[in-house]
Amino acid sequence: MKNNCIFCAIAAGEIPSFKVYEDDVVLAYLDINPFSKGHVLVIPKEHTEGLLDTPDATLAAVVARVKKVAAHIKDALPCDGFNILQNNGEAAGQTVKHVHFHIVPRYGMEPISFENHKGDMDELKALAERIRL
Ligand code: AMP
Ligand code: ZN
Repeated sequence: MKNNCIFCAIAAGEIPSFKVYEDDVVLAYLDINPFSKGHVLVIPKEHTEGLLDTPDATLAAVVARVKKVAAHIKDALPCDGFNILQNNGEAAGQTVKHVHFHIVPRYGMEPISFENHKGDMDELKALAERIRL
């Protein structure tokens, strides 16, 4: 596996994902163990570990895509807001060492725990089709 990295393998199409958006710079797909309905990860295709080793130009391009995907999710799902999360280092809860931005839709004032919940594969498949750009 390239860079021994599961997200590189997803970007290369070696491991399947519930893809939502793709262009030359990024891939966006559903988190398989979501915090909330429509939880999406946006990754640059180029491997870097976290915020600090990612070139500014890449970050700017990725954040523009985060905005694009989040705007689309807000139209496609009945969510009222969303959180953007980006974890750096194990102490911060980073489990995959390929830089990524979480888009976590929020519904009304419903509280959520920022913890993974086992995703239902059929539900994720239908959701990806619903919010794909
Ligand atoms: P972090 O804790 O910020 O490193 O987030 C990593 C996220 O990747 C977690 O929310 C996982 O549920 C998610 N994840 C791990 N493997 C996969 C995968 N194969 N497809 C989609 N999401 C994944
Ligand atoms: Zn990687």
